[in-house]
Amino acid sequence: MDTVQAAAPAQAIEDVARPGSDRAAAIGALRTRLAHLGDTGDGAKERAEHLVDLAVRYGTRPFTSLEQARRLLGVDRPAFAALLDLFDRIPELATAVQRGPEGKYWTNTILPLERSGALDAVVRRRPAFPYSVGIYPGPTCMFRCHFCVRVTGARYDASALEAGNALLASVIDEVPDTQPSTVYFSGGLEPLTNPQLGELAARGGRRGLDMTLYTNAYALTERTLERQPGLWSLHAIRTSLYGLNDAEYEATTTKPRAFGRVRANLGSFMAQRAERQAPTRLGLNYIILPGRADRLMDLVDFVAELNEHSPDRPLDFVTVREDYSGRDDGRLAADERARLRDALQDFTAYARERTPALHVDLGYALESLRSGVDAELLRITPGTMRGSAHPQIAVQVDLLGDVYLYREAGFPELAGAHRYIAGRVTPTRSLDDVVREFVERNPHIEPRPGDEYFLDGFDQAVTARLNQMEQDVADGWEAHRGLLRQAGEA
Ligand code: SF4
Repeated sequence: MDTVQAAAPAQAIEDVARPGSDRAAAIGALRTRLAHLGDTGDGAKERAEHLVDLAVRYGTRPFTSLEQARRLLGVDRPAFAALLDLFDRIPELATAVQRGPEGKYWTNTILPLERSGALDAVVRRRPAFPYSVGIYPGPTCMFRCHFCVRVTGARYDASALEAGNALLASVIDEVPDTQPSTVYFSGGLEPLTNPQLGELAARGGRRGLDMTLYTNAYALTERTLERQPGLWSLHAIRTSLYGLNDAEYEATTTKPRAFGRVRANLGSFMAQRAERQAPTRLGLNYIILPGRADRLMDLVDFVAELNEHSPDRPLDFVTVREDYSGRDDGRLAADERARLRDALQDFTAYARERTPALHVDLGYALESLRSGVDAELLRITPGTMRGSAHPQIAVQVDLLGDVYLYREAGFPELAGAHRYIAGRVTPTRSLDDVVREFVERNPHIEPRPGDEYFLDGFDQAVTARLNQMEQDVADGWEAHRGLLRQAGEA
């Protein structure tokens, strides 16, 4: 058999969760694989069909519990256990799950967390240094975005900066050497409003940490870069882009003439980056707000214009997202979502042609929409929130040293957010101490209506995965809990 012939059946299995795939070919290929594994007995055809059904299910609904999957297949427990064993022995099925419409949940979030052991640490209530630490250093923000939860006028007092930066520096120092990608700077408020941000970045850079800064880039001026050369130690700068002209920016951020300034800052950053041959990656995060689904082609033109500032070192990446907040005013209307599917296909094709070096990331939901499946965004509710959250996976630390359990909770004076503070880092109490004490105490924070808005898309995916794992264990499926723990080749 030549290699092309050998590869074709494997590919039929690997693609089976993709919309429009050849189900019959996948079942045929699986029957051959089962025969190689010695399974030629009665029901082999049905088992092949069930394995396909499982891959399709988990590629489109990653957070299904195993009991639910078993009931959907209509098989008894011994037969289901045998199917799960077979699933593990055919790696193409794991690949199929990751290539499904919701595969990004697996590749971007679940499987990296599985490899780190952080999910198991939460389920077993074992203390561990967090897999992800958001440092929220900004005392204020110059924008007032209409979808932002921050409390207008609430800010950290300038007098908190010196002690706060010392605490944040101590957190950077305590990150284990084995976790170089754990820390990022974000908010909360705007990180670049902290004049010592460059020093914090340089501190992490000296330790070899790959840190990303999330910023609105309004203050990423030449002057800032001159005063804070440590910013060049960052691994990446991810700029939230709130429109593609001054009017759109003002409608979103209330700040006049902000787009022109952000565009100039990005252009000059790119020119300087090329001149210095600095490795820092630069990208944009573009949120599709209602009414703006048809602006994606202009986003590519915007990137192409930026690239003129440094043709040999173009912009590195663009992430496109929907508004994850779950609030009604962030949701796209049905007809706009329908247009968005075509717009996403045109956008990626145009980006490939006009900005070929650009890495485009559509995230969980838009990726599936582009591939033809309009998946609902995952929604955690107060009823499915976890009473002790997941600090072994992610925490956020603000200027006061307060350790927040959810990414959208770390804003000063935000109603109810104080209940999601795990503890406070002080000169005598490290982040590791705070997390350990919290996990050992194992408190139950009773969720209230509206608390779900404290979770961003990552927090929601993590919560859904942990709930799924615990359900599987409770149902007696510990050996296979969560279906996949290892990546196939996606
Ligand atoms: S979303 Fe970001 S930039 Fe906009 S107001 Fe909130 S903190 Fe500021």
